[in-house]
Amino acid sequence: MADISWELFASQVDRCTLCPLHSGIHNKVPGQGDIHAPLMLIGEGPGQREDEEGIAFVGPAGQLLTRMLSAIYLPRDRVYICNVVKCRPPGNRTPLQEEMDACKLHLRMQFALVRPKVIVLLGSTALKATLGPEHYITRDRGKWYERKGTWFLPTYHPSALLHDPAKKKEAWLDMQSLRDRLIELGLYPDLYNLSEPSS
Ligand code: SF4
Repeated sequence: MADISWELFASQVDRCTLCPLHSGIHNKVPGQGDIHAPLMLIGEGPGQREDEEGIAFVGPAGQLLTRMLSAIYLPRDRVYICNVVKCRPPGNRTPLQEEMDACKLHLRMQFALVRPKVIVLLGSTALKATLGPEHYITRDRGKWYERKGTWFLPTYHPSALLHDPAKKKEAWLDMQSLRDRLIELGLYPDLYNLSEPSS
């Protein structure tokens, strides 16, 4: 993917009408965070709050995600966070396959720009859209997958944890596994140090 930039990405998403989801939204939600982060998190799509504010993971699920990252000393503003689709599906339904396929153009550009070493897939939609439809979140969460030098970890979407708190135990195991992988790859100290201001 040659000659790409964040400016091109922003304007591409802003002007995008590749699928019907763009009609009726308040804002596109491209994603945000540290564009040089070694860690990227991918969710499903914007919810109501995200649609209103144009920022990913700002609702209750996003607040839980922030606490989950804090629990392993990862400041949220030092990771990059986005969704499979950048427009809110009506009624928060799961995006259709053709909508995910259309929006993959933007996600691929984000991969190419951020070049993360580790990607956390939050929920079934992110897992299937990224690693393939043969995967199931209940079976495959907590397993590591390596693709072309990038490590992927599927885990539950925070909204699933809000609906079913019994899943939090497994989610915590996944966060510990994420912490251990970041340590193993030599990335954790950088992220951790950034959480502590030097002055
Ligand atoms: Fe374009 Fe993605 Fe929005 Fe569909 S969901 S209109 S592909 S930005």
